[in-house]
Amino acid sequence: MATMKRVLATDIDGTLIGHGGEQAVRDYLMEHPELGVIYLTGRTLSNAHAIICRYGFPTPLAIATDVGADIFWGPNLEADEVWAFEQRRHWSPRRLRSALSEVSGVIYRGRSSHWRIAFELEDPQLLTRVQQCLTEHHLLVRTLWYPEELRLDILPCTALKSRALQYILRRIRVKSENCFVAGDAENDGDMLNGHYPGVLVANGEPRVRECLPEWIIRSQYPGAFGVLDALRQWMS
Ligand SMILES: [Mg+2]
Repeated sequence: MATMKRVLATDIDGTLIGHGGEQAVRDYLMEHPELGVIYLTGRTLSNAHAIICRYGFPTPLAIATDVGADIFWGPNLEADEVWAFEQRRHWSPRRLRSALSEVSGVIYRGRSSHWRIAFELEDPQLLTRVQQCLTEHHLLVRTLWYPEELRLDILPCTALKSRALQYILRRIRVKSENCFVAGDAENDGDMLNGHYPGVLVANGEPRVRECLPEWIIRSQYPGAFGVLDALRQWMS
């Protein structure tokens, strides 16, 4: 594993891709190989890796997938078994499905990855009932609600980008002040609320914007343009 002094820890969708500037940020990162890149994404590994290849982004130092449930180390993308074990300790998909089968109007929609179980709620009001049910069954999990699709994804309670990032930085011995974080959405909130310098891109969610620490740059540019602009300021 290469020793890096400084790293960029970035989300992919809505941050590195989706708003233009992908090539500019790619070129900048390629010109600065001394800056390691850690990707933290809600995507699965194959999905995330395909995007990194498609845009020609740098080989990852590490990728945290499924919002931090899994960690893979670059360049060979080896799974971090210690981390996976951590997740498994708190994870019981069978108990989860059986508990939620008691709530009518909650439909199991399958597993979109090893760590992510999707349910459809016939009515958004059921969200409270679901949370109650999880508590009653002592199921400690992380829920991600997508109101447009009435979809509720459930992951291990430890699936958090901030936790995965902390673990990665400890392993590569990079201090938090030398890690620049970039994100746009709710699942980046915990990472942006750490002790790291970083940026919320202009298309960032208002809910995330409201509770950011004051040192996080609120970029006026969306997506990769925002990352690039803020990163340049930090690197200089
Ligand atoms: Mg995003």
